[in-house]
Amino acid sequence: MRLHYEPMDSDMVRALRAGGPDANGQPPERGAISTGQGEPCRHCLGQVPDGAEFLILAHRPFPALQPYAECGPIFLCAEDCAPWHGEGVPPILKMSPDYLLKGYTDDHRIFYGTGRIVPQDEVSVYAATLLDDPRVAFVDVRSARNNCFQVRIRRAE
Ligand SMILES: [Zn+2]
Repeated sequence: MRLHYEPMDSDMVRALRAGGPDANGQPPERGAISTGQGEPCRHCLGQVPDGAEFLILAHRPFPALQPYAECGPIFLCAEDCAPWHGEGVPPILKMSPDYLLKGYTDDHRIFYGTGRIVPQDEVSVYAATLLDDPRVAFVDVRSARNNCFQVRIRRAE
């Protein structure tokens, strides 16, 4: 199965960079400077370049408020970056030894039994296994340590 690693919506990212409200209704924090590791951007799905500014903001990757719509902190490049469109596994999923994966139904609720922490090199295999079940609409990848949302994985069209 081919997988699609979905970057954050470019229009939303543009609005946040312009100071628009995050999921908590606040402007993104500015002034943080990348150390060159451990600050993944949810738009280009790579590391914020060493020495470059990044935004810190609250993100809720769900269309509406409901009990399963988790909200938490993420980073974005403060400067323009291109949305991820590469083949294969994006760099954001090569920064930690393991990740928390969960399958969701098409009404944006956790599909119980799918949640698992998997080693970095097994993320794509486990995501494909979950997406092989038509009841799983997408897979969300989060930090296994801090629970921060990393990226959503869908079946490639
Ligand atoms: Zn970026």
